[in-house]
Amino acid sequence: MAVNKEAYQLIKKELSNRNIKLVAVSKTKPIEEIQELYDLGQKDFGENYVQELVDKASQLPKDICWHYIGHLQTNKVKLIAPFVQLIHGVDSLKLLKEINKEGMKNNRVIDCLLQVHIAQEETKFGLNEEELNELISQSANLKMNNIIICGLMGMASFSENGNLVREEFKKLKRIFDQYTKHQTSNIKLQTLSMGMSSDYRIAAEEGSTMVRIGSLLFGERSKM
Ligand SMILES: *Cc1c(COP(=O)(O)O)cnc(C)c1O
Repeated sequence: MAVNKEAYQLIKKELSNRNIKLVAVSKTKPIEEIQELYDLGQKDFGENYVQELVDKASQLPKDICWHYIGHLQTNKVKLIAPFVQLIHGVDSLKLLKEINKEGMKNNRVIDCLLQVHIAQEETKFGLNEEELNELISQSANLKMNNIIICGLMGMASFSENGNLVREEFKKLKRIFDQYTKHQTSNIKLQTLSMGMSSDYRIAAEEGSTMVRIGSLLFGERSKM
């Protein structure tokens, strides 16, 4: 297994034409492969497991921007708070408060994306529109100076049906657009994280500003 450099260059080019940021999802992949992609100029990497992220960050160049893209448990926030660049999957006030607390301890402002549930599958995490609305208004009323809600994240259904996936991304973009009008000191929606290996082109067409791509760059992952 090795990094697919050709795929990387092609995807990079495609995305930079649209001004979309690429997060290379390196979960389960060895640090040698991350280093390989880093040497080609990739700086943003995404991980799903806290301990794995912490271990990798300690062994790799310090200027890597680490994205936490998994479901974060409140008791693990402190482990990544000192260095994480962006937390993609926030879906509760409890978690936001904890991130704010740990941000304060580390004298940092931590960027967060709220995860919206757009897929048909029941198992995926995230907020429905009503819950999102509630979480945003609660956050606006609380003084949380050590977080910024800087966007939304969503995952489309795991489906071959491109039309379904497109409709789900359209929906997320519509929700996102509603909130970009309401900015407060710690709610500044500008990032829309949507699109993975199988659907990043559709996501790009539907207004994504950040895609999270793993297997196209690093090859398939073995099941954990
Ligand atoms: C694993 C993962 C990805 C990347 O998936 P690929 O299909 O390998 O591109 C993107 N986003 C999240 C939240 C993930 O867990």
